[in-house]
Amino acid sequence: MDHPAIEVARLRKEYGKIVAVDELSFVVPRGAVLGLLGGNGAGKTTTISMLLGLLVPTAGSIRVLGIDMLRDRYRALPRMNFSSPYVDLPHRLTVRQNLDFYARLYGVRDVAGRLREIADRLQVGEFLERPAGKLSAGQKTRVALAKALINRPDVLLLDEPTASLDPDTADWVRTLLKDYQAETGATILLASHNMAEVERLCDDVIMMQEGRVFERGAPPDLIARFGRNDMEEVFLDMARGRGRGLDVLKKAG
Ligand code: ATP
Repeated sequence: MDHPAIEVARLRKEYGKIVAVDELSFVVPRGAVLGLLGGNGAGKTTTISMLLGLLVPTAGSIRVLGIDMLRDRYRALPRMNFSSPYVDLPHRLTVRQNLDFYARLYGVRDVAGRLREIADRLQVGEFLERPAGKLSAGQKTRVALAKALINRPDVLLLDEPTASLDPDTADWVRTLLKDYQAETGATILLASHNMAEVERLCDDVIMMQEGRVFERGAPPDLIARFGRNDMEEVFLDMARGRGRGLDVLKKAG
């Protein structure tokens, strides 16, 4: 039987006195594109970092593709990948050296062939020989996505995949992600502040507030539930405390 792509149960992360993630539980079925939304400091990046095994939870459990990430993450990591505008690739290495390094790290079989394929797909061929530190923000994002797809991940975690991109490049990235998902059936979890992006890419959304799930649903369902026109308005309701989820949380103490 296929396990869900991601199973998070009663996940908690404390940084000293700050509770960044608080009793967070959710399941992501295989092949879903799940949006993780929430205002600044809601706990999205902390959650993604724990899913990747970069941060150790204070409590709770995480399974990815059925594998316990706290005990056995090295079995799951080759089938996962991620990209974040906040994690830079080594600056002095050229783009080719970077991609070659990550391809080997992830155990890609035909490294040269995959490099050609991914350079073509992500349109990074013209700057393969340039140091990664000397690229524009848009070029860096394309390289980061090339790295994120190098091992054809089954589970892809993206932290704000189109942050600081011009609208045209951002649109191109969204199309690329949609195509990758359709071709491979991969599961994608993406944190985003861009509600148009969420409406276009995500078939399911978790809205986080203060480290907890505030609301969950498909964008059209959330829009209907909040009586709004789009996800931008839904997000503003949540941020300004007008959602029904907040009342439920407050009542629950
Ligand atoms: P943003 O949208 O601003 O990226 P986020 O939803 O990703 O926010 P997190 O970065 O996960 O939020 O932060 C959640 C909480 O944990 C915040 O209160 C933040 O200040 C705190 N926090 C995050 N990282 C650390 C850290 N290394 N040490 C202490 N506190 C931290």
